[in-house]
Amino acid sequence: MGKENRELHVLFFPFFANGHIIPCVDLARVFAARGVTSTIVTTTHNAPFISRTIGKSQITLRTIKFPPPEETGLPEGCENSESAFAPDKLIKFMKATVLLQHPLEQVLQELHPNCVVADMFFPWATDSAAKFGIPRIVFHGLGFFPLCVSACIRTYKPQDKVSSYTEPFLVPNLPGDITLTKMQLPQIPRDDEVFCKLLDDSNESELKSFGVIANSFYELEPVYADHYTKELGRRAWSLGPVSLCRGSEAGIDKQECLTWLETKKPNSVIYVCFGSMTTFPDAQLKEIAMGLEASNHPFIWVVSKGSKKNEEQDEKKLEWLPEGFEERMEGKGLIIRGWAPQVMILEHEAVGGFVTHCGWNSTLEGVCAGVPMVTWPMYAEQFYNAMFVRDIVRIGVGVGVQTWVGMMGGEPVKKEVIEKAVKRVMEGEEAEEMRRRAKELGKKAKEAVEEGGSSYSQFNSLIEDLRSRAQ
Ligand code: UDP
Repeated sequence: MGKENRELHVLFFPFFANGHIIPCVDLARVFAARGVTSTIVTTTHNAPFISRTIGKSQITLRTIKFPPPEETGLPEGCENSESAFAPDKLIKFMKATVLLQHPLEQVLQELHPNCVVADMFFPWATDSAAKFGIPRIVFHGLGFFPLCVSACIRTYKPQDKVSSYTEPFLVPNLPGDITLTKMQLPQIPRDDEVFCKLLDDSNESELKSFGVIANSFYELEPVYADHYTKELGRRAWSLGPVSLCRGSEAGIDKQECLTWLETKKPNSVIYVCFGSMTTFPDAQLKEIAMGLEASNHPFIWVVSKGSKKNEEQDEKKLEWLPEGFEERMEGKGLIIRGWAPQVMILEHEAVGGFVTHCGWNSTLEGVCAGVPMVTWPMYAEQFYNAMFVRDIVRIGVGVGVQTWVGMMGGEPVKKEVIEKAVKRVMEGEEAEEMRRRAKELGKKAKEAVEEGGSSYSQFNSLIEDLRSRAQ
């Protein structure tokens, strides 16, 4: 398949965060599966994780050097957002990524690919690619709804016209009467100049670049896909859900989960995971534990983050768990203290609901699996995604958070609220309706990436665009 594409070479440059790397590797896999020569560029310390994520796919990995500590003010090896996830490091880290312009340009000069697909956090990559006459495509790893909301917020700045963080405003020039508050915008509370400039540059570079690849499929959000291209004037191809291109590789953790899931009835298990970066204060974790127990549904709950192996994290006792919780939940609840095989879990027929922080990858993985969701947004564009799940495609219910406080402390979401939200997606007619809609979307997602499907065809049209440019 796709032998005719072999002369095309696409270079991918993902941002250094798991939630960006995973969909970018999946995207590179989509290209490789269709015969396009695919290379991922990353830094030395990010290479092992990417290499593991690539697995057996036909993708080449090329490493460049992250600037040294004396240039960045960061400790040696601090090359991804996980290790830089502290207020004193994050800004330095974002600034350091700009210093990668020169090493990336050296690779471009040497390999001269037909196209560079670079993350939104590298707005400068458009100019770098242009120096060599190479088109640059932006990859946010997002769908059209959050892309449209972000573009309208940055263009019209409705948040500047309200007098408080809690006063609602309508997002201008966006179908669906979408109302937000300033508290739900990505840069709050890290209302920082570096970040704001970066997001402005990113928005601008979308317009200057060859186009945008969305991790979505047309049937999921036709109104917003059209709005993005026709009204907001951006060129875009939706090639997702890219996670459907991920092969299933057996691993010991997966086997354990599978064996556990096999003992459960269809749609009976609630899966709880807040992405790759979220950390909660102990008080919130305790409320989640009590809420899950009170819901009376079997659960898989991912509590520790990072790509470290489970064994390394096992040593840390979960002291905040309610008295006797693990004994009472024996056989009923599976706590994963590390990295969960999320897609495999979600796709299992025993799983009937998903408590999620609404990162776009997780959101889309929930859609593909056809499970209703409890939305618990934390940061970045997750409030937009939560709104999409609840109000646009109507396959979820909110847990009621209005702002970023979750990670920072503040009042935890109480166990009664969690219990009620879990029951709403797991039991009764409302849950059945949401599940039916979710399953329908999941089916359409799978059709979209098959031969003749919308994402498959959009891929062809992107290749034609690149080919005609290459001639
Ligand atoms: N993920 C996973 N296991 C975990 C946590 C996360 O496989 O224990 C994957 C998840 O399937 C998704 C990605 O990591 O593909 C997280 O991306 P998302 O956009 O949902 O959230 P982020 O981590 O960027 O906040």
